[in-house]
Amino acid sequence: MLESEQEGSMFLSGPELVVFLSLVALCAFLFWRRIGAVLSTVHRSRPDPDFHLRPLGRRLRRFFWEVMLQAKVIRERPLPGLAHAFVFWGFCVFALVTLNHLALAVGLAFLPQAGGFGRFYFRFAAVFAAAVAVSIAGLAIRRFLVRPKWLGPLSPGSGVVALLIFVLMATYLAGFWLPEETAAGRLNWWAHTLALLVFLPVIAHTKHLHLLFSPAAVFLDRGGFSKIPPLVGDEDFGLDTGRDVTRLVSFQAYTCVECGRCTEHCPANLTGKILDPKQVILGARAYLNEHGAQGSEPLLGKHLSIEAAFQCTTCGACEYQCPVGIQHLPIIIGLRRGAVNTGKWEDRYGTDLFLNLERHGNSLGFAHTERERFIQKNGLPVYNGSQEYCLWLGCMGSYDPQGREIVLALAQILRELGITFGVLRKEQCTGDPVRRLGNDLLFQQLAQANLEHIRASGVAKMLSICPHCVRTIGEDWREFGTAPPIEHHSELLARFASRLPGNTANREQVVYHDACYLGRYRGIYNQPRQVIARWGRLIEPPRARQQGFCCGAGGGMMFLGEEKGQRVNRARAEELLATGASAVAAACPFCNTMLRDGLAAASPAPPRLLDIAQIAAAGLSAGSQ
Ligand code: SF4
Ligand code: SF4
Repeated sequence: MLESEQEGSMFLSGPELVVFLSLVALCAFLFWRRIGAVLSTVHRSRPDPDFHLRPLGRRLRRFFWEVMLQAKVIRERPLPGLAHAFVFWGFCVFALVTLNHLALAVGLAFLPQAGGFGRFYFRFAAVFAAAVAVSIAGLAIRRFLVRPKWLGPLSPGSGVVALLIFVLMATYLAGFWLPEETAAGRLNWWAHTLALLVFLPVIAHTKHLHLLFSPAAVFLDRGGFSKIPPLVGDEDFGLDTGRDVTRLVSFQAYTCVECGRCTEHCPANLTGKILDPKQVILGARAYLNEHGAQGSEPLLGKHLSIEAAFQCTTCGACEYQCPVGIQHLPIIIGLRRGAVNTGKWEDRYGTDLFLNLERHGNSLGFAHTERERFIQKNGLPVYNGSQEYCLWLGCMGSYDPQGREIVLALAQILRELGITFGVLRKEQCTGDPVRRLGNDLLFQQLAQANLEHIRASGVAKMLSICPHCVRTIGEDWREFGTAPPIEHHSELLARFASRLPGNTANREQVVYHDACYLGRYRGIYNQPRQVIARWGRLIEPPRARQQGFCCGAGGGMMFLGEEKGQRVNRARAEELLATGASAVAAACPFCNTMLRDGLAAASPAPPRLLDIAQIAAAGLSAGSQ
């Protein structure tokens, strides 16, 4: 490369300079025409009421991990992820080289190759150029020849971008052997320059906009996993029309790189529903392109489907997988809110659920006296302020036969461990299903009534068998007041694991099913496994931990009747059965119910299904014999 040798003098001839400057102006104009329009749409969108830049530490850590190290992309798909990471790192390294290249054309080069740093840097960049060329060729082969179905139809834009990147790297490397004063060297310089200039408008007009937007989208996330934004004032109905679309939603819609990772992991899509999380994001983008940020057309219609919005189990797999920081759940739940609050969603099962909660305060529709009878019959102590824990029963623990067995198993362990607890007299549903189905009024009523009762009862610490209750009390109720700290029983049991009896003989194989609201939502993966490992031989299903596959119950889906396509719980049950385990362990009463049905449908002789509390209690019973 002779660039540095030309430093300070005009590198281009007069006519060449005219061509160069005209091309720069044209490409910059085409680039800005699109970027400016997108940024204007984002800016004209509604500000997000829950967005706070602070604390910066969390944002910076995430940015460093996911953007600079590309750790998430590599972790989820090691080989293509590494190839993608090299392309990204190459872009970073080439920023300086590219600026110098363009500056050279007008005689303002600032990185002399003769200097010590320049000599090092150009060669350092050459190493990356080779890595990027190989990586982009590999990614192009994957996209155009291997063609994973999640990437969707072939896109000419991707081919053009891959070609441009390859040409950029190849011409950079060729520059080391082709002196620029020769005709071949000059041709090479122009090939590099043209590829560079054309690249600008191409990325602005294609999904490769993510090259510019994704670092900002990761940094400026909503500030929590599956975070549901608050409604502001009486006129806020959720995502109903374009006027309700917030800046984060529109920025994220334009950031999507259409990689399909979200769809690849979506239990609804994998079992034949029409919901496709990628299309939810692209639908929002298509709406904004057609109607703009302040469109008065309903969002649910041409670009976004109401049926799809109500097929989501809120498992969070999409949001967890997305490599560019897109948060699907605030959008999906926002669309549900818009539909419910404006009366557009009509569903017999949904109406029954809402009525059950309004009339009886529980999602199963039982009279409150049923719960009292259960408490009295089993001698569960009532919380009076003197006990360490308030044991929150939840709808399943209060009324469902399997849920009650889990509560009683946990109560047995707590007594054995000498941990005092009591249950509330007037507990109502936390509001989890209605929160996630978009009925905020009902959710607010339930949250406030419960908070008031908890406050009046002087509760200091709470414990629950249900990850949905833990999430809703710990996170969603914050809009209406502060609840005492709550933990899931797996966390407590793991803390006391050494005091739970171990089993050294006849250790049967137990396959553990990760509950979405315990794993992805709360980051609890090891604790239930610790409890199981004291009693049986733990084995893992193919999709476990962060990749865990939903049971199909979340997001209110358990109450909405028959599903289209294959049932999610059946698909998961088949996966668990295929491990050959003689017992299935769960740590959520919703999972327990769904898997019980799924296992019974999938096998004439299904394995035993136990909650981790029942596993720990079985150890106690065995020890006392
Ligand atoms: S939350 Fe789960 S079910 Fe809903 S769209 Fe995402 S992956 Fe699909
Ligand atoms: S939303 Fe995220 S995961 Fe889904 S296609 Fe877009 S970039 Fe990929």
